[in-house]
Amino acid sequence: MPMKTDSVHPPELTQRIHAAPESATVRIADLAKTLRRQGEDVVDFSAGRAAEDTPKPICRTASDAMMNGDTHQTMAQGKPEYREAVAKKLKRENAIDADPETEIIATFGCKNGLTLSLLSILNPGDEVILEDPGFVSYAPTIQFFGGVPVPVPLRPENDHRWKEEELRAAITDRTKAILFCSPHNPTGVVHTPEELDVICRVAQENNLYVISDEIYERVVWGAHQHTCISTRPGMKAYSITLMGLTKTASMGGWRVGFTYAPAPVIRAMVTLQQHLATCVSSFTQMGAAHAFGEEPGTDLTNMWKEWERRCEYMTSELDSLPGVSCSMPEGGFYGWADIRQTGESSEALAERLLKEQHVAVVPGSAFGEQGAGFLRITCVKSDQELEKGVERLKRVIK
Ligand code: PMP
Repeated sequence: MPMKTDSVHPPELTQRIHAAPESATVRIADLAKTLRRQGEDVVDFSAGRAAEDTPKPICRTASDAMMNGDTHQTMAQGKPEYREAVAKKLKRENAIDADPETEIIATFGCKNGLTLSLLSILNPGDEVILEDPGFVSYAPTIQFFGGVPVPVPLRPENDHRWKEEELRAAITDRTKAILFCSPHNPTGVVHTPEELDVICRVAQENNLYVISDEIYERVVWGAHQHTCISTRPGMKAYSITLMGLTKTASMGGWRVGFTYAPAPVIRAMVTLQQHLATCVSSFTQMGAAHAFGEEPGTDLTNMWKEWERRCEYMTSELDSLPGVSCSMPEGGFYGWADIRQTGESSEALAERLLKEQHVAVVPGSAFGEQGAGFLRITCVKSDQELEKGVERLKRVIK
């Protein structure tokens, strides 16, 4: 019998994928790229990536490794050289004494650290508390693994920090972890040690893991300082720390980072990595070892100074627009512009900016209910792009 092809219905996909929204940030960046391919002059403030490429010394180390035959699988936990460089970085910059043998795993960027750690700790139906607004991939990732995301608002009137009573009210007997991010995407908040202690108290009293996304930890501005929650008293046993080079060394395409966590968590993550992906690419780990092993060189420190200047420029320009209020982020490189006074919704304004002036920004509502009335704008584009973007924003927001 010839096969009928016109009436074939492929087998159903998993329900997990039906439940998952697209990543709003990736969708808008893709839309901007499509417009660009059609010949439009798009200014893209949507994706969280800087104008700069990865500094050349890091690239050279990776390409030398590749040319010298470092092209084979590594240990699932990552190369010892990479883990040792990470341990040096944690000691030098974060006051952490980590054992590279048992407490560090190489990951594909920060997201892979998040997936492996969630898979290591979640049983079906377990709840994870997370920030609203927060990074767009957290809730879908928790859901993919059978967990339940429980957003707790970061209220603008509380300077985008959790209120301890609201955090406590969200705890149930199914709560397994608190997931948070500092410096924060999208609001730019950097938690002081005292603010972290709110989370520490709740985690310790309720025996919860704290998954701490610290991907922006090397870029904090002015007098603000980053503190790792794992260094707060008694917190090492509860903390799963995610870090990487995607943002701070402009290495988004490399897909490299690491997780620092108690040894039993790392052991579970290694088993998962063995089966799911084998290891992070070998020569990539060598480039990353270069980036972490030594004190950041001027190629990185000058870039960060430059980013601070651009964040200051962009946020003050945004703040001067009628109906818009935008302060300098404490860390990270996003402007979190409060547009509630304009009377327009964040989706409507973002859409109008893209359609009328080909400026791509992310509507705050993409990050959660509490993000409604805000826009997220990446401030670390080139000066030329920033100036062009500001000119166009002024035409739309009058
Ligand atoms: N966490 C946060 C808060 C982010 O903003 C991003 C990137 N946008 C990631 C994780 C993803 O990091 P990576 O690309 O290293 O997986």
